[in-house]
Amino acid sequence: MSKSQQKNKESNTPYKKDDELLVNIEDISVNGEGIGHVDGYTIFVKDTVPGDLVKVKIIKAKKTYGYGRLMEIEKESEDRVKPLCAVARQCGGCQIQHLSYEKQLLFKQNHVKNCLERIGGIEDAEKYMEPIIGMENPYFYRNKAQFPVAEGKDGSVNVGFYAGRSHSIIPADNCYIQAKENGEIIKLVKEWMNENRVKAYDEKYQSGIVRHIMTRVGFVTKEVMVCIVINSTNLNDKLSKALVDKLSKVNNIASIMLNFNTDNTNVILGQKVQVLYGNGYLSDYIGDIQYHISPLSFYQVNPVQTKKLYDTVLEYAFDDDNKDKVVWDLYCGIGTISLFLAKKAKMVYGVEIVPEAIDDARNNAKLNDIYNVQFFCGAAEEVVPSKYEMSGGAISADIVVVDPPRKGCDEKLLSTIALMKPERIVYVSCDPSSLARDLKWLLANGYEIKKVRTCDQFCHTIHVESVVKLESVNN
Ligand code: SAH
Repeated sequence: MSKSQQKNKESNTPYKKDDELLVNIEDISVNGEGIGHVDGYTIFVKDTVPGDLVKVKIIKAKKTYGYGRLMEIEKESEDRVKPLCAVARQCGGCQIQHLSYEKQLLFKQNHVKNCLERIGGIEDAEKYMEPIIGMENPYFYRNKAQFPVAEGKDGSVNVGFYAGRSHSIIPADNCYIQAKENGEIIKLVKEWMNENRVKAYDEKYQSGIVRHIMTRVGFVTKEVMVCIVINSTNLNDKLSKALVDKLSKVNNIASIMLNFNTDNTNVILGQKVQVLYGNGYLSDYIGDIQYHISPLSFYQVNPVQTKKLYDTVLEYAFDDDNKDKVVWDLYCGIGTISLFLAKKAKMVYGVEIVPEAIDDARNNAKLNDIYNVQFFCGAAEEVVPSKYEMSGGAISADIVVVDPPRKGCDEKLLSTIALMKPERIVYVSCDPSSLARDLKWLLANGYEIKKVRTCDQFCHTIHVESVVKLESVNN
């Protein structure tokens, strides 16, 4: 479309860029923006909550809807709270910190319900839903951080979080959802960079060295792991030693590592890791099970809520303590859920695509003296169908647990699960839309929903985790 056509099209809109309007915020979008209407025209306004009356300036106008920038709050909603974080509005991390925690939970519960109904075609989804599990103290909960590093305009080193929808960095000195140890780690890495003239990575020219600082902190052990992601295939001995000298000042430091990533990509970690100090993993507990977690492996970010999430998985998976069930744990990561399940199962089979995570899973089983588990490395949608075919349809599962990434399960995997006919499926999901899509498939293929529980793993953000219990209708 030519520029003039574009202009004409835009001029068809009832409002145009820079118009100022008074908007009553009535609802909240899936992205956390407030939603209001002026003469039937829908306006999305970031940083507002239902009940606010706000003055906005239109920043983008489409035919039936537009986006407004919050200019002034004329009347505050009762559900609005002052965020603890001074940069909550600029930072892209917490989209809804200005909404009371109680209403955040309600928003998440409603979001899941709406997805189940609209995408999953599930009628009256609320009847399956148990109350959302919130946090008592929804701050400083994250055990993992990945801070981007860049050079500031004055040549100083900027470390923080990306502003919403951009790659400009908001300083993260006082982040209220991260582990408190991070402030000191960032300070020490900056010192190391300044003292040794190590340049921050420049995305535009793919020059410079330090791309990200990744940290993990053990919730129970308090161990600290730091991994510096660099735009190089190696770091000389002098710089490596200086880095270790700096970071070994951090309390409970267990591992210092380098990760090499020279690709022009938004993916944070490269495939190669070099251990500079310690044994290359972080050790932590969920309940009474100990886990070793290496930097390339997935590990749930909110340890307090993870325990509650896994307890819900166990409750949905088993009715009794008979230990007679064969369970498949698909997308098993480092075997966290598998080892929880193993205590109540006859046998657990875990499948995971990341080889390092499978190494961790096997070690973790040994570490905890759990022997009724076996792990397979590969894509769940390839491993499970091929094992099913190779066994002539003989591999069996009484219970299947799936915990896929945001895109949900591949249909090839769902079809094989349906052929395996487990009496129960427990679906753990971090994306209500793909969850609802997959539930629709399972409902059309012999399963019915029994219970749904949401769990707030990501307080102050729009993200939500859910667990669904399904049973075979032929049972
Ligand atoms: N259940 C685990 C991990 C859940 S996160 C826990 O609670 O810790 C999802 C996991 O799926 C990640 O470990 C990711 O590496 C893995 N994964 C992604 N795509 C996959 C696929 N196609 N097949 C198997 N595993 C996959």
